[in-house]
Amino acid sequence: MECPKCTRPMETQIFKNIELDRCTGCYGIFCSPEMIDEGKEVWLAEAVLDVGYASTGARYDKVDEIDCPSCNVKMDKISDPVQTHIWMEACPQCSKIFLDAGEYTDLKHNTILDRFRDWRKGNRA
Ligand SMILES: [Zn+2]
Ligand SMILES: [Zn+2]
Repeated sequence: MECPKCTRPMETQIFKNIELDRCTGCYGIFCSPEMIDEGKEVWLAEAVLDVGYASTGARYDKVDEIDCPSCNVKMDKISDPVQTHIWMEACPQCSKIFLDAGEYTDLKHNTILDRFRDWRKGNRA
């Protein structure tokens, strides 16, 4: 699988019961929403899994209009209703999410599934 943002290979990372794919270039994270929720329960999961620098993530955050690396369909840009500075991409087909480096850590502060239905689609413009 190739990273939709920087085209470097993605590698599967497993920590405890969390499994996700992480880019070897920009350290973006591709995972299901459940894995984000799971990460909140696991001590230090974000420190182990989200190793990219937030500054690198911010640079790649400007790259949008990406395709899902597993389904090859265009992903929706969504924002977190509570932490509105966090923008991420969600696949309409497999519902997996692409997070830039540092965003997994950011999201750990809240429980994502409670609010999942409140997510709104962003404006691409
Ligand atoms: Zn990448
Ligand atoms: Zn997909």
